Amino acid sequence: MTDREAVRLAGSGVAERAADTPQPRLARWRRAGAWLLDLALPATCVGCGREGDPICRACRPALAGREQAPAGIPIGLPSDVPDPLLQLEWCAPFGGVVRRALHELKYAGERRLAEPLGAAIAARWRQTGAGGDVIVHVPVHEDRARERGYDQAEALARVAARELRLPHLAALERGRATVAQFQLGRDRRAANVAGAFRPAAPAMGRAVAGRWIVLVDDVVTTGATLAACSEALLESGAIGVSAVTVARER
Ligand SMILES: [Zn+2]
Repeated sequence: MTDREAVRLAGSGVAERAADTPQPRLARWRRAGAWLLDLALPATCVGCGREGDPICRACRPALAGREQAPAGIPIGLPSDVPDPLLQLEWCAPFGGVVRRALHELKYAGERRLAEPLGAAIAARWRQTGAGGDVIVHVPVHEDRARERGYDQAEALARVAARELRLPHLAALERGRATVAQFQLGRDRRAANVAGAFRPAAPAMGRAVAGRWIVLVDDVVTTGATLAACSEALLESGAIGVSAVTVARER
């Protein structure tokens, strides 16, 4: 068994145990019902409103807004790669179609958007990523995931991992509820998320040890959340952490 397979196995075992966590059966059925209903209805494009795909072929180029951009942070953006991240990449500026798509994925339950958005993450990483062994997503707080029925960053990470042929681990959890970062000024964001993340299980801590992690999230603003996740992963023995998001908000 290769190391990579071992990580995958460790990951699947823990994921199964997490899925076994008891929760009210009714809520579970209600969520499954809503999900099936969504699937039964055709998606409408977040760009132009056309029925069919959640982002139609004509609007899809918006997701590759930085396709030609070289790797790295362009000169003129306010911050460099936040310490201790090794690399930070994103697919497109946070605006227009991309902004609407992320909003629909996060707040309107349009889970089908994870497919094109996750594929965009994979495409950008394939083009610019310097390396990485394992995909890990930035988790939302458990309560928020339960309300929503899913974790949007996890949905993105699953698609990106599949496209990149890398294992995906739900390695982190939010140890305490944090205020939504967008409600805070830039200077208060680091304090809000510092120490908020921890390994989702002891086995997850072991699974990231000695690995180069690629963190996946929907949007990066100051990078404080990504930095806080990196700290937790490095404490578990990860050898390095890079990150890739759908969008970057200035
Ligand atoms: Zn469209």
